[in-house]
Amino acid sequence: MITVEGLQKNFGGFYAVDGASLSIDEGSITGLIGPNGAGKTTLFNVIAGVLQPSDGKVTMKGEDITGLPPHELFHKGLLRTFQIAHEFESMSCRENLMMVPGAQSGETLWNTWFGRKRIANEERALRAKADEVLEFLTVEHLANHKAGQISGGQKKLLELGRTMMVDAKIVFLDEVGAGVNRTLLNTIGDAILRLNRERNYTFVVIEHDMDFIGRICDPVICMAEGKVLAEGTLDEIKANEQVIEAYLGT
Ligand code: ADP
Repeated sequence: MITVEGLQKNFGGFYAVDGASLSIDEGSITGLIGPNGAGKTTLFNVIAGVLQPSDGKVTMKGEDITGLPPHELFHKGLLRTFQIAHEFESMSCRENLMMVPGAQSGETLWNTWFGRKRIANEERALRAKADEVLEFLTVEHLANHKAGQISGGQKKLLELGRTMMVDAKIVFLDEVGAGVNRTLLNTIGDAILRLNRERNYTFVVIEHDMDFIGRICDPVICMAEGKVLAEGTLDEIKANEQVIEAYLGT
């Protein structure tokens, strides 16, 4: 689904991503691991259009998407989750979902003049969709809670929920388990597995928790010093000498 060839990103002469090549199979949940500073987040940001690459190529289903801005990638179904922005924290979880760009058709002049009823219908449909997403994620009880007042793990679920409001095909999740308790981490893992199986989402997941990676990811790709070191099942990766050396060296 995605191929990355010879990707480079340098910051003032320092190569955070230094010629990384990899491919992500459609329908997979691929884990991306590696010691701190390996270049995982930078790689994500370059693929998702947040950062421009210095060199290299990214394709999605054969189409060159190198350096496309996030909103164009968004329309192709490639999404990177983001933390809930400060200004959205005073809105309810349901409203946060309803606000996802692309989920609603927007207020065009035509809609304003002739389509009040249509807008009301659309808002009802959007609300129903948001509630369905909250239910899927087993957090329907949070619908009216302000996004700023829910726990870190619940916020991660809401971030995942935002991808369900649009037609996502591949979702990049950065450190989904950071600061999240075990129970919620399991809920997040279940949601990812169900989205993968029932809605054909492809995922790429950066995570440090190896139990979590082992439970949901196959294959696992290990990066170090801006390059891909190894790819395989988690057990294969754990037994790889170069991987062990990279982790011990940090
Ligand atoms: P990881 O996600 O694997 O921990 P990162 O992609 O966050 O790694 O960072 C890789 C390296 O690039 C690190 O040494 C980091 O300090 C550096 N880096 C990341 N972003 C920037 C930036 N905007 N400017 C300069 N250096 C950066």
